[in-house]
Amino acid sequence: MVELPEALLIAKQIDRELAGKKITSANFDNFNPNIMFMNVTPDEFIDRIINTKIVSSYAKAKWIFVKLDSNLILAIAPEMGANILYHENQTTLPKKYHLQLDFSDGSFFTLKCSGFLLMKLAKENELETMKYPGKIGKSPIDHEYTFDDFNALLDGHKKIIKAALLDDGNLSGVANYYLNDAFYRAKIHPKRKAFSLTSQERKNLFDSIRWVIGESIRLNGRSERKDLYGVHGKYERLIGPKNKNSPCSNCDTLIVKISVAGSNNYVCINCQKL
Ligand SMILES: [Zn+2]
Repeated sequence: MVELPEALLIAKQIDRELAGKKITSANFDNFNPNIMFMNVTPDEFIDRIINTKIVSSYAKAKWIFVKLDSNLILAIAPEMGANILYHENQTTLPKKYHLQLDFSDGSFFTLKCSGFLLMKLAKENELETMKYPGKIGKSPIDHEYTFDDFNALLDGHKKIIKAALLDDGNLSGVANYYLNDAFYRAKIHPKRKAFSLTSQERKNLFDSIRWVIGESIRLNGRSERKDLYGVHGKYERLIGPKNKNSPCSNCDTLIVKISVAGSNNYVCINCQKL
């Protein structure tokens, strides 16, 4: 799943590379409504986007927003990951793609999703009223997001900590990939009840979430994902499938894989006690 660091990076690169470019053509290849969830049909999309210019781009949570000079915004959430690529000319165009945009200067943008993807083309106020993206809450790296906000979130939950943090809108832009590292760094078991965390544990977890996200932003996202130029990120997860059955770097206990709230986590049951 794409989380905040990857969305921020691609949006920043689109803003730098594509702002001012005019879209002269748009093509869908093998359009499949079961993997590309759009608010318009492909024909309507093409009709609305052709002859518009890209003005700017920004990210919120897992969403990449591309502002057009028609006042429409192209909003993309590559839920399960996607190759979102810029091509200076046609020599690097991929054989397979889901969407291709051609620009008047002979450059291109292609998008190929893995799994499914949400893509909306609408005015800003319309996007906010849709179920997705809707109104996106503060992300943990926003200056306005405080430890008090985090505490209030945990206090209100009888659920396990991971489910509380994954609930829509609670911690925008952060999902299991980065939470897994944050739990390990903070020495918190993801199955602990949210309200049961001590004040110090809450602080450790809050700081760890911000550290993990900040570190991934600094390193251009996780190593499994590519940026707009096809370059992989450099963030390597602290604990993941590679560590399963290997000793914990703190205490030598073997790392185990567990299923929590619908996805897998890797934990050291000695450092992260239930
Ligand atoms: Zn350990």
